[in-house]
Amino acid sequence: MANTSEKTNLLGMSRDQMEAFFLEQGEKAFRAVQVMKWIHQRGVTDFQSMTDISKSLRNKLEEVAEVHRPELVLEQNSDDGTSKWLIRLSDGNCIETVFIPEDDRGTLCISSQVGCALDCTFCSTARQGFNRNLSSEEIISQIWMARQHLQPDLSTDRVITNVVLMGMGEPLLNYDNVVTAMRIMLDDNAYGLSKRRVTLSTSGVVPAMDRLAKDVDVSLAVSLHAPNDALRDELVPLNRKYPIKELLAACDRYLQDKPYRSRITYEYVMLKDVNDTPEHARELARLLKNRAGKVNLIPFNPFPETRYERSSRAAIDRFREILHKAGVITVTRRTRGDDIDAACGQLAGKVKDRSRRELHFARIEQS
Ligand code: SAH
Repeated sequence: MANTSEKTNLLGMSRDQMEAFFLEQGEKAFRAVQVMKWIHQRGVTDFQSMTDISKSLRNKLEEVAEVHRPELVLEQNSDDGTSKWLIRLSDGNCIETVFIPEDDRGTLCISSQVGCALDCTFCSTARQGFNRNLSSEEIISQIWMARQHLQPDLSTDRVITNVVLMGMGEPLLNYDNVVTAMRIMLDDNAYGLSKRRVTLSTSGVVPAMDRLAKDVDVSLAVSLHAPNDALRDELVPLNRKYPIKELLAACDRYLQDKPYRSRITYEYVMLKDVNDTPEHARELARLLKNRAGKVNLIPFNPFPETRYERSSRAAIDRFREILHKAGVITVTRRTRGDDIDAACGQLAGKVKDRSRRELHFARIEQS
């Protein structure tokens, strides 16, 4: 935990954890709900302002606890309404968070790690290596801060309706902190987001997918990117450990006993002449035909020194059409926020000991 003081930070605690904290303090468990509402719904971080709590408890909380959050260092707004925030963590690392407003929803794209331990060849984060996991408070603070900026009056209107863990990092390799943060997102005493509107994107850490299915109920997106093991081994090296067959079986298991969850989203980055031919599309259709899934085609966003190029519009349309004809629901994500470098593959956080770092964030727009 990147904390600067000895005090317990309450920002990243799930309800269970906060209840345990109050019981340890010799207080009643229901205090957890009161404090969570103050922090996450009313945006209050100063215990003395929590007026439904007795003065003596407020004083005690001030002694032993804090609501510490990272610092917002930069906000940029795109002409198309996309906002991007640069957030500095207490150890000097910076991460970025993006908000994408659409007609019927507002989506926040958040990070789970500083860097990434996986080595996907088309991803700029991979080139920077892995720095560290984000703590649960660093993950949830991205929503806390975005909400403060989007809704300074903190009205009950929901501006952030969807959260996607599609920023920097592999969320399932920071399992405990990510699950805690998602519990806070879903908790009615905090953000109360619908379980259909919180999406975790993974490159396919199979055992953690099975764990997730039991621990917290969220939507799952899987970075597939190739229709066969030979190609996926190259693009997503994690495939050598958990090949496509095992991955798809884990996806099917994820939907078991969840009748309200109709499908997994399969992400497929469109790389010119690498994975975008009609043959690839037919192979992908065969894999997904009888599966409860939909495909999200993501036009590749190039970054300096990459060996890949974005597929042409025609190639992407042709690919989509083949899948569509085979009965596989397929949409193409639309890039937004390019004017502030907020599109997928364009984000730049600052990592300690580095002057600049390229990040990628998936775009949520669909065409
Ligand atoms: N590690 C997780 C979550 C982060 S990546 C995962 O792999 O799913 C989220 C998405 O960003 C990936 O599905 C990938 O499709 C996309 N992505 C990464 N680099 C990209 C790039 N340069 N252009 C377009 N999409 C990219």
